[in-house]
Amino acid sequence: MHELSITQNILEITLEHAAKHQAQRITSIRLVIGQLSSLVDDAIQFYWDIISDGTAAKGAQLVFKRLPARLHCQACGHDYPLNAEGYTCPNCGQDAAQVVGGQEFYIDSIDIQTAPDIHF
Ligand SMILES: [Zn+2]
Repeated sequence: MHELSITQNILEITLEHAAKHQAQRITSIRLVIGQLSSLVDDAIQFYWDIISDGTAAKGAQLVFKRLPARLHCQACGHDYPLNAEGYTCPNCGQDAAQVVGGQEFYIDSIDIQTAPDIHF
């Protein structure tokens, strides 16, 4: 159910943005989701189709971009991505990693279509 409130948030921000720019409709929204975030793309898309119905955002394409998780070794200060080896630092072999990235969630950009200029 976490995704529902997130999706409502996205819709709110998107419609606000659209109103500010007098958009006729919203064509696509790029979302950035960290690898460690528990958010599920499909769930967001599912709710989106339901709640955007009847708004200027109906039919807008959701584009998901996953950011890899990043770890910081507290023993040697090395920064590295989370990989198959898990949390162990590839530089010093210690298990002293701190997660410094991968939990983000934000709207990267919103593409809108404005009314065409009318020339008389
Ligand atoms: Zn290390």
